[in-house]
Amino acid sequence: SGVAAVIDRERLATLLGRELEDFRARHPRSLEAHERARRSLVGGVPMPWMMRWAGGFPVVAERASGNRIVDVDGHEYVDLCLGDTGAMPGHGPAPLVAAVVEQLQRGITTMLPTDDAAWAGEELARRFRVPRWMFTLTATDANRAALRIARQITGRRKVLVYSYCYHGSVDEAFAVAGPDGTTVAREGNVGPAVDVAETTVAVEFNDLPALEAALATGEIACVMAEPAMTNMGIVLPDAGYHDALRRLTREHGTLLLIDETHTFSAGPGGCTGAWDLDPDLVSIGKAIGGGIPSGALGLADHVTAAMFDQQGADYEDTGGVGGTLAGNALSLAAIRATLGEVLTDAAFAHTIPLAERFADGLRDLFAKYALPWNVTQLGARAEYRFEPRPARNGSDAHGAADPELERYLHLHALNRGLLLTPFHNMALMSPSTSAADVDRHSELFDEAVSELLA
Ligand code: PMP
Repeated sequence: SGVAAVIDRERLATLLGRELEDFRARHPRSLEAHERARRSLVGGVPMPWMMRWAGGFPVVAERASGNRIVDVDGHEYVDLCLGDTGAMPGHGPAPLVAAVVEQLQRGITTMLPTDDAAWAGEELARRFRVPRWMFTLTATDANRAALRIARQITGRRKVLVYSYCYHGSVDEAFAVAGPDGTTVAREGNVGPAVDVAETTVAVEFNDLPALEAALATGEIACVMAEPAMTNMGIVLPDAGYHDALRRLTREHGTLLLIDETHTFSAGPGGCTGAWDLDPDLVSIGKAIGGGIPSGALGLADHVTAAMFDQQGADYEDTGGVGGTLAGNALSLAAIRATLGEVLTDAAFAHTIPLAERFADGLRDLFAKYALPWNVTQLGARAEYRFEPRPARNGSDAHGAADPELERYLHLHALNRGLLLTPFHNMALMSPSTSAADVDRHSELFDEAVSELLA
C-alpha cells in the first residue's frame, strides 16, 4: 500500500510505545477504575467494544458537556467522536436537558402516546420525505423491523447489502461479497443462526452490474443501503449511482431502505434531503434523541398500505416487530427537543463548514509532508484514510486499514486532549464545536506526523 512507502515501521512502534506509556502514567484513576471493573464486567467494560480505545484501557468519563469530556483523572478532551454520532447535537444541549428533565417528572413510559409523538412523525416526514413513522429504541431495531416488513410484503427471502456495511447488530448485514458472485459471512461473525448466504446477497458499493444481476434473480425483498458508506471510512456514491439504484429496485419489485443513522451528518434531512432521494423506507437512530435511546422507521404510503392489506401479519403484538419501551414518552420528548431546537438548519450551517475546515487542514498537511493520503467529507463528518484516493467500495476501504498507524495518531491526540472516533479516523462536528477546536486537531496531527517522519 501507499503507507509502507513513507512510514518507518520501527519508528512508528517506538512512538506508539512512548504514547502508551504516557497514557498509562497520565490516567491512574481510569486504570484503577478499569481494574476494579475487570472483576465484574466482561473485559472490564460495559460492552466489549469499549475495549477498542487506543490506550489499552478506556478513559473513564466523569462528565461531558457541549463538545467537551472530562475524565476521572481531571483531563479535558475536545470530543470529535461524539459517541460515534449519538451526541452529534453535543453533550447535553440545554433544550434537550430541559425537555428530558421535564418528561422525567411527568412519566417515562406509560404505553400511551404523548403529544410529542405526532410532532416527531411530522418533522421526520418533512425532513426525510416518507410520510409515516414508527419508533424503536435503536437504529438496529429500526433496521430489523424494516427487513421483516420488507420480506413480509414482498414474499421474498433475501436482503441485499454492501460488502463491509454496518447497520447495527442486524444478522443479515454481516456479509461480504465472496468470489464469483457468492456471499460469505464477514470475519468474526458470532454464532449466526443460519448461513448468511441464505438470507443475504452482498455486492460492492458503486458496482451497478453486480446490483442489477442480484436484483434480476427476483429473490431480493429489500436493498438496505447507507446512502454513502460511513462505517469503513466514508465512501461516497458515484454520480448517478442513486438514480440507478432507485430505478433498478423499482424495476425488480425490490424495496429500498435508506439507513440515515450516520449520514444524518449530510444535513437536516440526511442524504435523502440533501440529494433528493426517494426511498421506500428510512431508518435512523442515535442522534435524533441526542443519545436518549431512540430510533425511527419511516415508510412510504405504498408500504403501509401493503402492511395492513395482509391478513395474518401481526404488527400489534407478537409478530416480531416492536419492543415494550419503543416509542416511550422520554424518547419522544428527546426527539422533539433535538430536532426542534438543536439539530436545526442553523446548526448544520455551523457544523458543515467546520468539517470542511477539518478536511482542508488535513489536505494542507498531506501536501506539506507529501503523504499519499486522502480525506472525505459528508456534511458535518470527515474522515481520512491512508491511501492516495478515496475508496469506491467497502472492500477497497477495508484493504487500506493500518491499525498501528491509526492507533498512534489516535493516542497521540488523546494524550494531548483530543478524542477521535475509535474504529476509524472520523471526526464529527457538533453545534458546540469551534474553529479553534478543529485547528487544534490540525496542530496535533502536524506534530504527530512530523515526529513520525523525522
Ligand atoms: N446504522 C448505521 C449506519 C450505523 O452506523 C449504526 C451503528 N454504528 C447503526 C445503524 C446501529 O445503531 P445502534 O447501534 O445505535 O442500534
